[in-house]
Amino acid sequence: MFNSLSDRLTATFKNLRGKGRLSEADVDATVREIRRALLEADVAVPVVREFTAIVKERALGAEVSEALNPGQQVVKIVNEELQNVLGGETRRINLAKTGPTVIMLAGLQGAGKTTLAGKLGKWLTDQGHKPVLVASDLQRPNAVTQLQVVGQRAGVPVFAPEPGATSEFDDPTGDPVKVARDGVDFARSKLYDVVIVDTAGRLGIDQALMNQARDIRDAVDPDEVLFVIDAMIGQDAVNTAKAFDEGVDFTGVVLSKLDGDARGGAALSVRAVTGKPIMFASTGEGVGDFEQFHPDRMASRILDMGDVMTLIEQAERQWDKAEAERMAKKFTDQEDFTFEDFLAQMQQLRKMGSMKKMLSMMPGAAGMREQLENFDEREIDRVEAIVRSMTPHERVAPKIINGSRRARIARGSGVTVSEVNQLMERFAQAQKMMKRLASGQGVPGMPGGIP
Ligand code: GDP
Repeated sequence: MFNSLSDRLTATFKNLRGKGRLSEADVDATVREIRRALLEADVAVPVVREFTAIVKERALGAEVSEALNPGQQVVKIVNEELQNVLGGETRRINLAKTGPTVIMLAGLQGAGKTTLAGKLGKWLTDQGHKPVLVASDLQRPNAVTQLQVVGQRAGVPVFAPEPGATSEFDDPTGDPVKVARDGVDFARSKLYDVVIVDTAGRLGIDQALMNQARDIRDAVDPDEVLFVIDAMIGQDAVNTAKAFDEGVDFTGVVLSKLDGDARGGAALSVRAVTGKPIMFASTGEGVGDFEQFHPDRMASRILDMGDVMTLIEQAERQWDKAEAERMAKKFTDQEDFTFEDFLAQMQQLRKMGSMKKMLSMMPGAAGMREQLENFDEREIDRVEAIVRSMTPHERVAPKIINGSRRARIARGSGVTVSEVNQLMERFAQAQKMMKRLASGQGVPGMPGGIP
């Protein structure tokens, strides 16, 4: 996400580091680099122009010339201005005061609406809501089935027209406006509290599509109209967003496919051009690859200051509480940490998703980009295979794992003996550290330890 933009900006700021004073030439050079980085990231030209003008004005002002560390002050300014461009405050979903909250999705075909319906449904379910998805995309032959598959994966029910009704012309029940209206009535009668209406997209902006979306909007009177946009479409983002803004007057934006090598320009342009807030980000094809959009955290990610808050939230979402409590109890009872525990922890980690994605949210991730790119997710598979090749007894009493057992484990898991040895060593260290922590001695190199 925003990799090249992030790399370019952090490289620019490196040149400022440690400078006692910034000359006008320093500021000019920095602003020029920022401009280049933004343009290369496909940020719309007027947005770049305004952004750099503000940064330049502030960088030449008193807050920088009087700062103890002018370089850092410039980074702070860019951070604040990025946050502004991205929308400032986090914008949350408007929930209806009475009756079900209606959320309508709009956007071009392939933008990621159907996928998003599932993600949003699951996210709302996790927060205690009872959502239903409504299949009002009757344009594409498979759209209804696709939404049903998505709903099933997300564990969210789907309201769909009768099978066979693919368009309003071959069956009156195939009228997308009617389906949307019926879907909302259905939700009301069955006490669902959120209705997510998926609508049809076209490959390009088209009046018939816009009219249909508007008809659906007028029929269901949504609390939110979310415009879903593929972050990879680059400069086209601005025109598409403008057209949908005029066409359906959306209330919020969802950026999808931010996981790809999207240059991120859409994120930085759409909000500035339409004035509408970005509310969510979609970061993969999986139902959990989805997050609420926080301008401050995103700015921080772009400037490689990490996004530890999102990391923690994602961990919490996937964390198995019972397992965590079992580990905590083991820990306070000072029981031995075994390979069984090790395996359980690996599985917890795995549930949090891709290690690469998690590590990329750590501060300084841009500096480790190459290692991250080379990070082999299969390493976890190998470790798991090794542990699984141990007998149950070996897992709880690793001390008995001698040379011949190691050779057998290596054969069983398809790795070399030296890989088994490495794991045994790492495990012994982890075990030692757990012991020290549990006994209140603290970890070497870390002050304090457990009080
Ligand atoms: P729709 O036509 O707007 O309903 O778009 P779909 O939901 O069918 O998505 C189009 C394609 O993009 C599908 O292959 C999805 O799996 C994929 N997709 C959707 N969201 C994301 C995302 O955030 N990341 C990636 N990598 N792919 C996505």
